[in-house]
Amino acid sequence: MKHKEVKNQLVYYLEGSLSASQIVNIDLHLKDCEGCRFYLQELEKDFTVMLSEKEVENDPYFFTRLKAKMDAPAEKRTFKLTPILQTALFALFLIISIGGGIEIGKQLHHQPNSGQNDALVLLPFDGVNEEPIEQFLLTLE
Ligand SMILES: [Zn+2]
Repeated sequence: MKHKEVKNQLVYYLEGSLSASQIVNIDLHLKDCEGCRFYLQELEKDFTVMLSEKEVENDPYFFTRLKAKMDAPAEKRTFKLTPILQTALFALFLIISIGGGIEIGKQLHHQPNSGQNDALVLLPFDGVNEEPIEQFLLTLE
């Protein structure tokens, strides 16, 4: 087996994804070849660093995922409650304002001088008196 061949397969050797015969071939080569053994040691260092980094990266994700699962029911409940509360408060506000408006309307109607209000409403229809320019034009002709 050539050095280059062995070096190319050492990653898979460390991963454990080689067949038994391939592992035997590499083991045999490593016994006699110090260069490839050194290369394997360096590769092993990188490999363990890589694995430890992977673990470090995975841990917080796992924790946050677990935490999210744990918090999920409570979060959902509050998330659902607030819009309901908001609509309920808004509905209550609407009922109060409509009720208040009706009450104000009733009070206005019950006032003894409500006839004045009718007069005020009817005044704009008295066009000639309300618009002097028209009256001026009418008298001019
Ligand atoms: Zn070698």
